[in-house]
Amino acid sequence: MATHKLLLLPGDGIGPEVMAEVKKLIAWMNAHKMGTFETEDGLVGGAAYDAHKVSITDATMAKAHAADAVIFGAVGGPKWDSVPYDARPEAGLLRLRKDLALYANLRPAVTYPALADASALKRELVAGLDIMILRELTGGVYFGEPKTITDLGNGQKRAVDTQVYDTYEIERIGRVAFELARKRRNKVTSMEKRNVMKTGVLWNEVMTQLHQREFKDVTLEHQLADSGGMQLVRNPKQFDVIVTDNLFGDMLSDIAAMLTGSLGMLASASLGETNPKTGQRKAMYEPVHGSAPDIAGKGAANPIAMIASFGMALRYSFNMGREADMIDQAIAATLDKGLRTGDIKSEGTTLVGTTQMGDAIIAEMERLAR
Ligand code: NAD
Repeated sequence: MATHKLLLLPGDGIGPEVMAEVKKLIAWMNAHKMGTFETEDGLVGGAAYDAHKVSITDATMAKAHAADAVIFGAVGGPKWDSVPYDARPEAGLLRLRKDLALYANLRPAVTYPALADASALKRELVAGLDIMILRELTGGVYFGEPKTITDLGNGQKRAVDTQVYDTYEIERIGRVAFELARKRRNKVTSMEKRNVMKTGVLWNEVMTQLHQREFKDVTLEHQLADSGGMQLVRNPKQFDVIVTDNLFGDMLSDIAAMLTGSLGMLASASLGETNPKTGQRKAMYEPVHGSAPDIAGKGAANPIAMIASFGMALRYSFNMGREADMIDQAIAATLDKGLRTGDIKSEGTTLVGTTQMGDAIIAEMERLAR
C-alpha cells in the first residue's frame, strides 16, 4: 500500500483543536489499515510568527512542496493584529496557495439531512443538496496588472483593477470542472459575464471548445454570473458543478455556503498542477472557517469542517473515494443521533464539545467498518 505523506499545519485559535480530531482519525485509519499515512506537523500563521517572526518559514514551505497533501487548520487572531504586514498570519496561507500554484478551489455545499433546518433557505430547497463550486484561484481581477490608485491632481483619484485571463488558465480550471462532474452527476454550469466583459466572452468560448473537444459526455450549460447567483438561492438543486472565475467564485461560494448552515461545517480543497511523473497533484485541504478567537481554547469548536476537509484529501489526492464516503456517512450518522456543537445546536439536540464530536464520528467509522 502506498504511503501518503501529509503535512499538518494546525495554525492558530481553534486550528489546533480541530486538527487534533483529524489526527485521531488518521491514527484510527492507520490502525485499521485504511491507508498508510505519515504525518508531520508545521507552524503557520501567528504560531509561526511567535517562533520565527515570519508567517511560514522556508523550511516549512519545502515540506509543503514535498508532501502529498497539506492539511491546514486556520490562522489569525487579535494577538497578531499589529505585526508587520508581510508577517501577518494570513500571509502564510497566501504564500502556500501561491507557491504551490493552487489554481482550483473546490467548495462543496452539502446539506446533511439532520441540518436542513439550519439553512437560510426553506428546508425543501436545500434538503439533500450536494453541489460543488469550483473557483479559479490564482488569476483574474485579484492579481491582474495594472492594479493602481492614481492621484489625478484635481481632487480626484482613479483606482484600476485589471481582470485578465489567458486561454490556458480557463482551460485548466475547465478540465478540473469536467473531470469532477464525471465523478458526480455529470453536469457543469459555467458562469461569467460575457454580456459586459471580454474575459467573459473568452471564458465562454474556451469552456465551449474544451467541452466539444474532450468532454462531450458531460452536460455543459452557461449562465450569466448574476442570474446564476439568483438561481443559486432560488433553486440550488439544479446545479452539480459550477465553474467560475476568481471574483465571481469568491461571492458565489459564500452564497452557497449559507445554503448549508454553519461555517463549522464547510470544507474546501485547493488543487494545483499534476506532476506528470508521479501523477500526484499539489493540494491543500482546509476548512472555510477562520481561527474563531471568540471560542478558541474552550473546546467548543465544531471539528466537522476540518474532518470533512481531510475526507476531501482522501477523495481528491489519494483516490480513496470509498473511505471518503465513509467519513461523510459517519458525520451524517453522528448528526442524525442529535449530537451538536454550539454553532449548529437546535432545540431537542445534545450539546457536545470538539473532542466528543470527533470521538462520536470515529465511533461511527468503527461501526461502518465492521
Ligand atoms: P471565523 O471563521 O474565525 O469566525 C466567524 C464566526 O464563526 C465566529 O463566531 C466563530 O466562533 C464561528 N466559527 C467559525 N468556525 C467555527 C467552528 N469550527 N465551530 C464553531 N464556530 C465556528 O471568522 P472571523 O471571526 O472573521 O475571523 C477570525 C480570525 O480568523 C481573523 O484573524 C481572520 O483573519 C482569520 N481567518 C482565517 C481564515 C483562514 O485561516 N483560512 C479564514 C477566515 C478568517
